[in-house]
Amino acid sequence: MKTYDLVIIGGGPAGYVGAIRASQFGLSVALIEGKKVGGTCLNIGCIPTKTFLSYAENIYHMKNSRKGILVDKFNINKEEIYKEKEDVVNKLTGGVEALLKGYGVTLIKDFASFTDNNTIKAGDEILSFKKAIIATGSKSLIPKSLFIEDYTVDSTYVLENPELGKSVIIVGGGVIGCELAFILKSFGMDVTIVEKMPQILINEDKDMTRPIETSFRKKGIKLITGVGVKKIEKGKVILENDKQLISDKCVIAIGRIPNTKNLDPEKAGIKVGEKGEILVNKDFLTHNKNIYAVGDVVGGIQLAHYASAMACKVVAGIAEKDYAPNLDFIPSVTYSIPELATIGMTEKKAKEEGIEYRVGKFMYAANGKALSMGETGGAIKILANKDDKLIGASIVGHGADNLIMPLVVGVSLNLKASDLAKLVYPHPTLSEIILEALEDLHGKAIHKPKRR
Ligand SMILES: Cc1cc2nc3c(=O)[nH]c(=O)nc-3n(C[C@H](O)[C@H](O)[C@H](O)COP(=O)(O)OP(=O)(O)OC[C@H]3O[C@@H](n4cnc5c(N)ncnc54)[C@H](O)[C@@H]3O)c2cc1C
Repeated sequence: MKTYDLVIIGGGPAGYVGAIRASQFGLSVALIEGKKVGGTCLNIGCIPTKTFLSYAENIYHMKNSRKGILVDKFNINKEEIYKEKEDVVNKLTGGVEALLKGYGVTLIKDFASFTDNNTIKAGDEILSFKKAIIATGSKSLIPKSLFIEDYTVDSTYVLENPELGKSVIIVGGGVIGCELAFILKSFGMDVTIVEKMPQILINEDKDMTRPIETSFRKKGIKLITGVGVKKIEKGKVILENDKQLISDKCVIAIGRIPNTKNLDPEKAGIKVGEKGEILVNKDFLTHNKNIYAVGDVVGGIQLAHYASAMACKVVAGIAEKDYAPNLDFIPSVTYSIPELATIGMTEKKAKEEGIEYRVGKFMYAANGKALSMGETGGAIKILANKDDKLIGASIVGHGADNLIMPLVVGVSLNLKASDLAKLVYPHPTLSEIILEALEDLHGKAIHKPKRR
């Protein structure tokens, strides 16, 4: 039986990133992965969806080409799109395997379970560890009451099956539901989203999700909000108001549950919560003093970059290195046309918490680069507290995923809006909307009419 400084179970963005970082710190590391390295993110999550979304954007721009381009005809070859997605995934997962090898991480391809307080079984092998990290991620949640054979499917099914029929109902208007809606509509399906909350993307401010709702409706995506699902039958979704919707497939996108199946955490004295999440303290330590858990398996925010950052933080602690990421602020992006990117506090959260705040806003339509690109449907909103410290920002519009980054810096480093507004922003760029919104916080946006 070999003993490692660190054994990590699960090779997703938490596990494989943690393994490489641990090796960089000089620890001996084994990574155990039951399926494919890269986890949900690379194989059935972030990367496949973004490959499809990129196609969806291309299709959107062909269907809505600018006046100067006439697109007579184009065909969508779904087989090719799915094949390209596989190529992208294989390139990335192959790259991760090569990196792990290069860093001397022992990769064991099997499912792992705890045998006692400091040993893990993976296939026929027993490994002993000084420290271990559980990074087994999450899986789609389809409650039994909503599962109908050959009708209800999850995001993984959608990402792996080009032929879904002509129409789809997506139950859940969260990030995954919205991204799949945009993709499937672009691929030619009739799409309906059913969301029981009064708006899609319920955690975000309504004024920031409205442009997405408007654009979805314009594209022909049907949005039903404020009504839950009463029952699902084969080919049919019955809403709480007794309205019946018919479709070829129904995608359930109502959340994901922690993956602890066959892990036997209790054999190592690890406690699990009501939803199956591994219970951890603020340092991600489980009830076993040598075992941590990070990523989707601990519940809470389920994002790849957060999973990686949690792993890096734990590994820095284990290796006693002053190199831990700041986990106080986690940006998030919902991809569609338009995209929505956020950091820190939303306006509704600031109101709920009674925080004194000011808002700076600016519209893409008044930005020269946005106009010249024909990308005028967007807006930015920045929140600062009474001391002018940045506390949150949302951008809905073209390029929001990258534009949010200076505001991630501002919010995370507790900077003042006036400090970020003192920087010079290159012209003509979309980044100038950030400057305008920062200056709007002080009533000084140059390209906004004078306040009365
Ligand atoms: C459709 C979709 C789109 C998404 N898009 C985004 C996005 O754009 N941006 C973003 O930040 N996040 C996105 N996410 C979320 C993101 O994929 C997850 O937050 C992230 O993958 C979590 O990383 P993780 O390492 O905790 O778990 P996972 O990525 O789930 O990896 C866990 C790994 O552990 C393995 N495993 C499980 N049990 C065992 C065991 N007993 N033994 C050995 N191995 C085991 C699994 O096979 C898996 O490979 C998306 C998710 C989905 C489903």
